[in-house]
Amino acid sequence: MLTNIIEQIERLVLHMEPRHAVRFLNVSPPWAIEAMQRARFRRTLRLAAERSSFYREQFRQRGIDVRRIEHPSELGDFYTTGEDLRAHGAEAFLTGRADTAFETTGTTSPIPKRVFFSQRELDEMGRTSAIGLYHLGIRAEDRVLSAYDCSFWVSPVVLRVGLQYLKCFHVEAGKIAPREFYERARVYQPNVIFGEPSWLVRLSELARDGGTWPLKLLFGGGENITEEARQIVESVWNAPLYLSYGQTESFGTLGAECERQDGYHRNDLFFFFEMPETDTDGYGELVYTTLVRDVMPLIRYRSTDLTSLVNEPCGCGLFAKRIAKIRSRTDEMVVCGMGNVGPWVFEEVLRNVNGHGADWQAVIRHDGRRDVVELHLEMEDFDHRAGVEQAVIANLRNRFADFWKNYEMKLYDFRVAPCAPGSLRNGRKLKRVMDERQMIPVAHQVNQRAHLSRESVDRSLD
Ligand SMILES: [Zn+2]
Repeated sequence: MLTNIIEQIERLVLHMEPRHAVRFLNVSPPWAIEAMQRARFRRTLRLAAERSSFYREQFRQRGIDVRRIEHPSELGDFYTTGEDLRAHGAEAFLTGRADTAFETTGTTSPIPKRVFFSQRELDEMGRTSAIGLYHLGIRAEDRVLSAYDCSFWVSPVVLRVGLQYLKCFHVEAGKIAPREFYERARVYQPNVIFGEPSWLVRLSELARDGGTWPLKLLFGGGENITEEARQIVESVWNAPLYLSYGQTESFGTLGAECERQDGYHRNDLFFFFEMPETDTDGYGELVYTTLVRDVMPLIRYRSTDLTSLVNEPCGCGLFAKRIAKIRSRTDEMVVCGMGNVGPWVFEEVLRNVNGHGADWQAVIRHDGRRDVVELHLEMEDFDHRAGVEQAVIANLRNRFADFWKNYEMKLYDFRVAPCAPGSLRNGRKLKRVMDERQMIPVAHQVNQRAHLSRESVDRSLD
């Protein structure tokens, strides 16, 4: 009964003008949100067990009676993984009729993960995004240009709906070359620009040379960024760059930064976040359960992102708790200027390329301006480097249209780095893809750690 009332109130909040919604949510007591989460969790779990063939079978095999489960942690070691989505196919997860689908590419396999949604879900996610963007200062009089990639990607669609609620002027350029965007965008005089972080860095380099115009803010989604690169973008435009964090599986935003740029305020209304295992720093893999999805709910989905849950209030005053800046991924996939790359990508670019040994390792660095992908190859004769590099780049061009597009846009550099035979492997399993970028400045990392060990990490939402 109480939960029903709270749910009605939340529906009402979502339909309010964003400025009223932020004010209202800020004064809502935490227990009300927790009660709603639990009720939604129970409903989602029952729906999944009844209608999704994947979950029905999993729960049957494990002897799980969902009517007795009140909290995600009671599911023990049951999780849903990206591998499950790929192996069983999205259809095995469906619990209702879908209106649209999006894909997530890369990761550890060339097979994309497909995720289905309804128009109602899209609408609700759009309204929530509108509340978040309003909190960052976006208003009806703003002029927004977006360079989000519209190909199978969820974010441009959610943004479009969100901006409809904010009633902004909005032009979708798509992910075109930063130079072309720069020339064509000026005419519209946008004061807000959306794009992928590495793309925004390249755009900012062009603007530094060619001149800027007044911006209120920039907003990046789809990948992480080093603080160094963020600094470049912000100093060129003299405007803040905010990031969101999400996955296609979550239907976009799981959380977004506020003006403090210290972690992502999470969406506890739509997701149940958990961190079942943490290291001594309070960091672990983020696991989430969807709470308002009825087409393709996900129960305890392993994000493969390494972060921590920050439950202490943020200086900005927003009610929502936070997810710390993502440290790295738990699998070997790296999201960088090249795109989403995993070991299989490099196996493919090395196919039929001669002149190097069997071992290889890709190292992602950042040279202060853009990401650099260094493919370390063992070679008897370093004179072969140029020929090998040529063949590898030809494979990149012929086999990976997206990675090639980003290369041509100068979103990253790609180099072959020769090394002596036998030097890559030291008897252990060779880590194929290494991300050596420093995502969190060292001083900040130390502060954050001191902070975390004191009080802020609450290992579950209970
Ligand atoms: Zn904040």
